[in-house]
Amino acid sequence: MAQLMHITSDGADLTDRLEDLLQEFGIDVNDDEIDELALVPAFVLGGASVETEAHAHGDHMHVVGIRVTIADELQDAFYATLGQILSADDEEDGET
Ligand SMILES: [Zn+2]
Repeated sequence: MAQLMHITSDGADLTDRLEDLLQEFGIDVNDDEIDELALVPAFVLGGASVETEAHAHGDHMHVVGIRVTIADELQDAFYATLGQILSADDEEDGET
């Protein structure tokens, strides 16, 4: 299992390969305006799994981290599929 992205209150930590791929589609994760959480559904469609780290204080809770992982043997297919998902989004928006 390989980690693709880990989001905490300090920000998001992505693999270089994922950051480069997003960059190709004009998504700069270092831009404060980008909500990394909004990218998670596309990652899931690419075969990734999401693990939420949370703890409770009585009747309310804190989500302290969100980890996105992929099975080792699915890594190459994940990046290829994500590229297709992101280019399909571009066509829908009419933007490049
Ligand atoms: Zn707490």
